[in-house]
Amino acid sequence: MKRRVTLDVHEYVDGVSAGDRTVLARAITLVESTAPEHEALAQSVLLRLLPRTGQSIRVGVSGVPGVGKSTFIETFGLKLLDEGHRVAVLAIDPTSTRTGGSILGDKTRMERLSMDTRAFIRPSPTAGSLGGVARRTREAMLLCEAAGFDVVVVETVGVGQSETAVARMVDFFLVLMLAGAGDELQGIKRGILELADAIAINKCDDEKPETVRRALGDYGAALRIVRGEGGQGDAWTPRVVRCSGLKGEGLDALWSLVKEHRLALEAHGEFVARRGAQAVAWTWDLVEDTLLGSLYASAEVRALRSGLETDVAAGRLTATLAARRILEVFLAVAAQPQP
Ligand code: GDP
Repeated sequence: MKRRVTLDVHEYVDGVSAGDRTVLARAITLVESTAPEHEALAQSVLLRLLPRTGQSIRVGVSGVPGVGKSTFIETFGLKLLDEGHRVAVLAIDPTSTRTGGSILGDKTRMERLSMDTRAFIRPSPTAGSLGGVARRTREAMLLCEAAGFDVVVVETVGVGQSETAVARMVDFFLVLMLAGAGDELQGIKRGILELADAIAINKCDDEKPETVRRALGDYGAALRIVRGEGGQGDAWTPRVVRCSGLKGEGLDALWSLVKEHRLALEAHGEFVARRGAQAVAWTWDLVEDTLLGSLYASAEVRALRSGLETDVAAGRLTATLAARRILEVFLAVAAQPQP
């Protein structure tokens, strides 16, 4: 029998609700699809599953290639399975949206975790803008929650804007760093310090205790400078800890930290507020994404584009006037009644 491309709404909803990983994978493929008929179906499925979402602990994990993310997530994930959790791992890979290849997806990753039926691992969507990929990952996260995964890990490579995208969709944002990577403070981007709920100095098994201690001190000091001493009345002051994904060291303490963070935010009423603010921000991300998508797809804008770009590049037209011209054309088309 030929396999149908899509299931019907009830098959998706029932399958995902029952925790069926095959149906979950197909539902994620559906939300990743850019075909208009799939989009409508995907939204019906998501709307029906919405009451079953939101129950997980959402953890973001970021760090440069080679810092040990996949090793860490595998060991951490296996530990959580042992404690009775069900763990989903999703990825946002900014390199894949540019090149079609990817840093995260090229090697076989997290083999032991991916073989366990209590876990679910999904690589990054490989098409579209970062905004589009972030949207699909958020929706995949909701589907995983509806399927009963109570810890969702969203992984990203620590380059560019993807960290911000991930930090905006998770409860707890963890950044992995290396202790011995040259002059510690040189390599720290201010942006990442503003986002991190914790920094973990990874591969501690492979470093001199003295180097680790210095890194803990340096990162702690950098966090205090960027975030303000005492956290300015926030519910949470970001921490710096040490760990080894390879040896499984420090992972219990990290998980305790994630739970402590949740309790602290809940006690201050910030947890519900943060989730709510994220949902509102997602809405506007969608508006922007859809607007930009239709702007770039507009035949009228495309007709103008290369001429205007040439003129701006050659200094015959100012960027402001070119931008105004593009928007005039786009808004005039958008204002026309739909056939
Ligand atoms: P990713 O690119 O951030 O996902 O990094 P990987 O998890 O693929 O790890 C990169 C390399 O570092 C691999 O050779 C790992 O075996 C090694 N590695 C990862 N975690 C640790 C650790 O905690 N200690 C040590 N000594 N090596 C590690």
